Amino acid sequence: MNIHEYQAKQLLRNHRVTTPRGEVVYTSKAAARVAEDLGGSRWVVKAQIHAGGRGKAGGVKIGNTPEKIAEIADHMLGSILVTAQTDPDGQRVNRVLVERASRIEREFYLSLVVDRDSQRIVVIASAEGGVDIEEVAEARPDAIHKEHVDPGVGLLDFQCRKVATAIGLGNRTTSFTRLLKRMYRLFRDRDCLMLEINPFIETEDGELVALDAKMTFDDNALFRQGDVAELRDFDEEDPKEVDASGHGLNYIALDGSVGCIVNGAGLAMATMDAIVHHGGRPANFLDVGGGASPEKIANAFRIVLRDPNVRAILVNIFAGINRCDWIATGVVQAAQDQKIDVPVIVRLAGTNVDEGRAILDASGLELIQAEDLDDAAVKAVASLEEVPA
Ligand code: ADP
Ligand code: MG
Repeated sequence: MNIHEYQAKQLLRNHRVTTPRGEVVYTSKAAARVAEDLGGSRWVVKAQIHAGGRGKAGGVKIGNTPEKIAEIADHMLGSILVTAQTDPDGQRVNRVLVERASRIEREFYLSLVVDRDSQRIVVIASAEGGVDIEEVAEARPDAIHKEHVDPGVGLLDFQCRKVATAIGLGNRTTSFTRLLKRMYRLFRDRDCLMLEINPFIETEDGELVALDAKMTFDDNALFRQGDVAELRDFDEEDPKEVDASGHGLNYIALDGSVGCIVNGAGLAMATMDAIVHHGGRPANFLDVGGGASPEKIANAFRIVLRDPNVRAILVNIFAGINRCDWIATGVVQAAQDQKIDVPVIVRLAGTNVDEGRAILDASGLELIQAEDLDDAAVKAVASLEEVPA
């Protein structure tokens, strides 16, 4: 789960990491009021969407009167922002953050992520802040410094000093160590997968400030992070994915044309691979889970069919905890209740498979039955030819 910059900055402030003072607003009038309340003579208006690259795309703008701030906010609110990190259709701006403009001396990159290879939290830092870190990693890998944290002892002071020196903050090791250790505690206590500050800056007064913030949380830990879970903004997520999670379905939208309804994450991955192997492209990943009721299967159909790119649906069930007769009942129910105008390929195996097949046969529906995974993928890809794109 991702959160907005202003929410991440609030969490950082709770952990005593310095950020510019600011407030999120939903109207231009409120933007001007916040600028006045904050005081000073320069403010920044920042589009709040779950994607970076806003600076280059016009989603971060500076103004020096409250009237100008209102004007910028008015322009930004309701607009569609397309950045290097959004999908090509962009993302609608529903809220903006108004904050005091900092006087920047230097910009740095600093993040904490869970590194799967070493199974540790790793600190990533660079003196090349404010820019696209992936580009830096590509062009000048030695400009990026990494420090792995031993989970047994946590982040140690000498590691923080090493990072500080590596990025040219050797004269500020004390304040940098304090900053990094606070970030580490926040990361660990809130079950983060990523905490990225790009840039954090040294101000003209020598203060270290988090100017941007991006946070990703481990979905599997949200049950014990109730107040974090409340920060979820459904407007930023694919409505099909939100719909699916509300029905206990694990759905991820992709850009192909073969809709997939599968039980088990492993089989779902294998099904997508088989489709690609035979020349097709999956429209989604969908794991219906164990013990899927007919209603759940019908919901799966409804969600997969919300995607206008879907030109065939492949149902692949290897029933262990699941029951093929329930799955078949769900397929029939979906076909009767919903307008399904694409071919449906069904492969059933495992518990109650004969009962399941009998239900499909008796339904009189035009379903294409398949023997195994490979057969199902071949038939799904072949069926695309018969449907105009
Ligand atoms: P994004 O990463 O989406 O482009 P950032 O928050 O990193 O957005 O902002 C882009 C740039 O805008 C920063 O690198 C910084 O130079 C400038 N900026 C952002 N916030 C402030 C601020 N409060 N004061 C001054 N400059 C800012
Ligand atoms: Mg940034």
